[in-house]
Amino acid sequence: MENNKSHENPKPSNFIREIIDDDISTNKYGGRVNTRFPPEPNGHLHIGHAKSICLNFGIARDYNGLCNLRFDDTNPTKEEMEYVESIKEDVRWLGFDWEDREYYASDYFEQLYEYAVQLINKGKAFVCDLSADEIRKYRGTLTQSGKESPFRNRTIEENLDLFERMRKGEFPDGSKTLRAKVDMSSPNLNMRDPVMYRILHETHHRTGDAWCIYPMYDWAHGQSDSIERITHSICTLEFEDHRPLYDWFIDEIGIYHPQQIEFARLNLSYTVMSKRRLLQLVEEGLVDGWDDPRMPTISGLRRRGYSPESIRYFAERIGVAKRENMIDVALLEDSLREDLNKRAPRFMAVLRPLKLIIDNYPDAQTEELEAVNNPEDPAKGSRKIPFSKVLYIEQDDFRENPPPKYFRLSPGNEVRLRYAYIIKGTEVIKNSSGNIVEVHCTYDPATRSGLSQSQKKVKGTIHWVSAEHSIDAEVRLYDRLFTIEDPSGDNWKEFINPNSLEKLTNCKLEPSLANIKAKDRFQFERLGYFCVDYDSTESKKIINRTVTLRDTWAKIEKA
Ligand code: ATP
Ligand code: MG
Repeated sequence: MENNKSHENPKPSNFIREIIDDDISTNKYGGRVNTRFPPEPNGHLHIGHAKSICLNFGIARDYNGLCNLRFDDTNPTKEEMEYVESIKEDVRWLGFDWEDREYYASDYFEQLYEYAVQLINKGKAFVCDLSADEIRKYRGTLTQSGKESPFRNRTIEENLDLFERMRKGEFPDGSKTLRAKVDMSSPNLNMRDPVMYRILHETHHRTGDAWCIYPMYDWAHGQSDSIERITHSICTLEFEDHRPLYDWFIDEIGIYHPQQIEFARLNLSYTVMSKRRLLQLVEEGLVDGWDDPRMPTISGLRRRGYSPESIRYFAERIGVAKRENMIDVALLEDSLREDLNKRAPRFMAVLRPLKLIIDNYPDAQTEELEAVNNPEDPAKGSRKIPFSKVLYIEQDDFRENPPPKYFRLSPGNEVRLRYAYIIKGTEVIKNSSGNIVEVHCTYDPATRSGLSQSQKKVKGTIHWVSAEHSIDAEVRLYDRLFTIEDPSGDNWKEFINPNSLEKLTNCKLEPSLANIKAKDRFQFERLGYFCVDYDSTESKKIINRTVTLRDTWAKIEKA
């Protein structure tokens, strides 16, 4: 769907599903639907990949079809098992299952080699001795046709012999390639005798040293789809110009022909998504690793507190488009709020504590007050929270000299303490440097929440935590990693938000949170949704703010 504000209508308009419906009605693949998600294991997955995962696995689910997980591992220099494992973890976490269909392009190396020999035998591929630079020069430009390689007319026998010797390791890296013999004057540069194999004496993460020639992505991809009998090969728009080449390969070899369908990749505002840039952020220490909660990686979003449901919902809301567009990151955040609002239990916590003393409250008294766990879900019931003479409130919720329309606490003003009493500010105590260190107030015992005679109304309600019963925690507040909507320019690093992480080390939690564990999610009333960090321990609790309660940057139009 082109419109990124489409959440009034969460059902995506989907040109891909229309194509599939058509193919089913004409029985094109015998009614079969088999998609695949084909990551290259050279980096961690990000929210853009999540879009592709939800699309491919979602289609398979809705059409009673299958979706394969295929690692496109044709490049031994950049790929690692670590990435394979993290990709599998991320896909599983998103809620999808490839069952026994975990495939690797490297498993097809022998088959691909045989296909290449077939093309040589047809006179459709040749061994070329031009260097990479020369090949580039010979290729020509968009306006200028290319020049044929002087090695293009080698005999089939010579090509077969040289290609076999390339495989055997007789030639050094870069000295020869196998190229398709297509058309050096094609207006499509991809068709100008593209390289199919290069020599690389490198150890591959799965095939070890069995090979020293490796297929190019363009040579491996379409044939891998064909071998797996993929019906609809869904990929991003940059492969549109490669489709004629994929079609050419498959038709020349004469094998099963899947259909490629292109869609627009996800671009998110205030975010970079290129693997190269994400790697730079990590390697240059600009973030704390791949799973830094500010990263758009799946692992970062997970650590930040995103739920798989919210990401799937987001993918559904953005739908698929045929043209490049930019999705507002606020839509991702909004999808999360909508999910957590229904599910996250509420608690009270004070992030920047200010001591509040109720002068007329009995010194040694503690009351257990009733608090609702989730107003959106009555089945979640309520809990007891202790109330006593000395509390913490947010520094922000008190002003000695309140501006107009300030309905929180100030001297002489009344405010309700959530689930408790109405209090009235009386006195402010400052230290020698003039900073407020504590605030005094009085309470009205007749105003306790839930008491039938408590009819009194005040304009503001603030949250609090009983000082004596409170639990200490560090809370990390995250903000967008970039200060501008589109940090895709070359000077992107200049726009890193210097305030994207704020650590608050003196936060006070209500005692119901004594036993929180990593990954627990909840709402702190009035403050936002939070999630316990992986590094949190019983003695040092660390909590990430997942998202604020409302969008603080832009306004999302609500239906
Ligand atoms: P690379 O530049 O390394 O190829 P990539 O982001 O394309 O990076 P792949 O591992 O090749 O990474 O991607 C796997 C699949 O995810 C591909 O099918 C690709 O089209 C899809 N994909 C990648 N980025 C996005 C994105 N931003 N939006 C939607 N799909 C994406
Ligand atoms: Mg790619």
